[in-house]
Amino acid sequence: MVAVCYSLLLMKDCNSCGKCCDTAGDGGLSASADEIDWWETYRPDIARFASDGRIWVDPATDEYFARCPWLRQSPCGSKTFCEIYDDRPEDCRHYPVDIEQMIRHDCEMLEPRDLQNSRRAQQRLEVLMALNREH
Ligand code: SF4
Ligand code: SF4
Repeated sequence: MVAVCYSLLLMKDCNSCGKCCDTAGDGGLSASADEIDWWETYRPDIARFASDGRIWVDPATDEYFARCPWLRQSPCGSKTFCEIYDDRPEDCRHYPVDIEQMIRHDCEMLEPRDLQNSRRAQQRLEVLMALNREH
């Protein structure tokens, strides 16, 4: 029990820097047929950026947006938020999957010690993600 609490202290919370979402343009995300069906029924405003199973696609060009069209800057300018947070793709809900992905995206949850021992960092991440899924 103590070990779990100690391990949680060693990875920072997400600070909404937006770096991970910044990499989600240009075909970096996927959505299932069920998700797209759901958006078509309940969120046509979201579904309009899906095309032939691809997200996020500009309806004017049928090309991927270079940057996720739902990423917004907070009024203070130092944080970002997702405009469709409650209805975002499963891909986004499961981020981050592993430490390598976080390193690639320069994720600000990582502590220097996470870079030194990626196996332990992965264990801490899995505890954190399991807790997040409960809430
Ligand atoms: S849909 Fe939302 S959570 Fe997913 S990449 Fe875009 S801004 Fe980020
Ligand atoms: S890169 Fe990491 S810290 Fe930044 S918004 Fe994404 S999960 Fe949060």
